[in-house]
Order: sequence, then C-alpha cells, then structure tokens
Amino acid sequence: MRRVLVSGCLGGSPVRFNATGVDVCSPIWDRWAAEGRLVSFCPELSVGLPVPRPPAEIVGGVAAEVLDGDGRVREVTGRDVTDLFRVAARRAVDRARAAGVVLAVLVDRSPTCGTSQVHDGSFTGRTIPGRGLAAELLVRAGIPVFHQGQLTQAAALLDGLDRDD
Ligand code: SF4
Repeated sequence: MRRVLVSGCLGGSPVRFNATGVDVCSPIWDRWAAEGRLVSFCPELSVGLPVPRPPAEIVGGVAAEVLDGDGRVREVTGRDVTDLFRVAARRAVDRARAAGVVLAVLVDRSPTCGTSQVHDGSFTGRTIPGRGLAAELLVRAGIPVFHQGQLTQAAALLDGLDRDD
C-alpha cells in the first residue's frame, strides 16, 4: 500500500514547540487513517528536542543553504541548532523510505516541515517563500510534499498512482 508521511503534530498530537498540535478536519484524512496509510513522524522529536522548546527559524538563507552551505537554524535564544535540524531532516527521509511513502503532507511555516513558506529568521512572525529542511530533503528524494491545506491535491496524486496499477 502506498503511504503518506504526515507531520507528527498533524491530527492534534501536541508536539509543536509550544506544546500544541494542528487539527485536521477532512474526510480525506479520515479515509487515509482508516486505510492505514498515515505514517506520522516528527523530525524534531526524533533528535531529542523537548516539548515545549524554544521556537527556531532558518537564519540567513533558505533550507538549501542550511543543507549545503552556510545557512543556519537558530533558536530564539540564539542557540545554533543547525546540526540537529540537519539530522532531523535526514531521519524524515529515512522514515519515509522505510515505510513505502509516496508523498508527504506537512505543516507549513515550520523550519523543518514547511512546504511553501518559512519564517524569515527575524522571529517577528514574518514569512518568506521556501521549505523547511525535511521538506527540502524529501523533495530531493523524489517525494512530493504538500501542506495541510492541500489535502485535495495530495489525494488526487495518490489516487492517480493507485489507478495506474
Ligand atoms: S517538526 Fe514538523 S512534525 Fe514536528 S512539531 Fe514541527 S511541524 Fe510538527
């Protein structure tokens, strides 16, 4: 069965930096859950970050620059957590591959899971176009990523793949 990697906080699990989750109210989600397709994974928890934790943002670049160059991820405290976030991103890809995932639905604006926007590194709430580190690595691994507002598009892709069998 083709599976869908989903952010661990999607569906309400309170593992975000501020100990909240992200509710999902969608028949698509409910169907995927009933079919056993959901592979729930929080990259940041997988590397031992606690709940709650200080907010972190990509500083001085986008995800590609953090993965390949001098971009950094910092907590609002100033602590450099770049290496932890790089490992977290790799673990998301490892989990996806091991579980037979064909696409991912992730929470937007996260420095790890963002798929279309991330915060701009100023810790002021401003966002810029871009992906989080895990989303960037998933795309590089050939796994399309969607945010939680794109379940219809994600389902269309999955249904198309299933029809091709
Ligand atoms: S890293 Fe991703 S899964 Fe984990 S809390 Fe942040 S947005 Fe959710």
